[in-house]
Amino acid sequence: MSTGEGDGEQAERAAFILRLRQRGIRDLAVLRAIELVPRPLFVDPMMRRHAYDDVALPIACGQTMSQPSLVAAMTEALGVTADQTVLEVGTGSGYQAAVLSHLAARVVTVDRYRSLVSEAQTRFEVLGLRNVTAYVGDGMNGMPARAPFDRILVTAAATDIPAALMDQLKLGGVIVAPLGAPEEVQTLVRIVKEQSGRSRTDLMKVRFVPLVPGAAATL
Ligand code: SAH
Repeated sequence: MSTGEGDGEQAERAAFILRLRQRGIRDLAVLRAIELVPRPLFVDPMMRRHAYDDVALPIACGQTMSQPSLVAAMTEALGVTADQTVLEVGTGSGYQAAVLSHLAARVVTVDRYRSLVSEAQTRFEVLGLRNVTAYVGDGMNGMPARAPFDRILVTAAATDIPAALMDQLKLGGVIVAPLGAPEEVQTLVRIVKEQSGRSRTDLMKVRFVPLVPGAAATL
């Protein structure tokens, strides 16, 4: 598998980072993390010419990888530091997890499709990302064996945050997730777990594929 490295690719990637800055992404650590991940490696070969466009792209199993400016905004909102453990629900292509792996101590990512998880794992190996582990399972249950988490990022939409995710988040920890009905426009929220409950900030309107309970029976 090619990592897509090359002079043309380098130049395209630099222009891509510039566009993210123009779209309001200010956090230099986030921009650097994005610069370190070759998006073409995560994109379906048929779609590679769009890898550095700011668009969502279809991936296998009828799923979608988010547009890069949204990946950047979610990563920025999560506020990850180098000593933290992050859970991502919805591995998909593995792109978001790869970006997080350059910011966190450890990244745990889970998807209900076995094939997506195994392709993502191959990409992490190709890139030498040793601090990210992908699991097959129902992310609505979190990942109790690896809990607690400092940060949780949900990349599929639900009407509320699954209780297991709140339980597995440390006090003072942050969850970023799209909340709303599957077929509608959702709201990306940032939730902080506090002693007395949670505080919520609404960030922006988004559209995600739905969070579906249970691991997929096939694929
Ligand atoms: N973050 C991904 C894109 C995620 S698309 C990327 O960077 O490419 C949303 C993903 O959530 C899909 O792959 C879908 O299979 C997964 N998903 C939906 N419901 C889930 C659940 N209950 N548990 C785990 N993954 C789930």
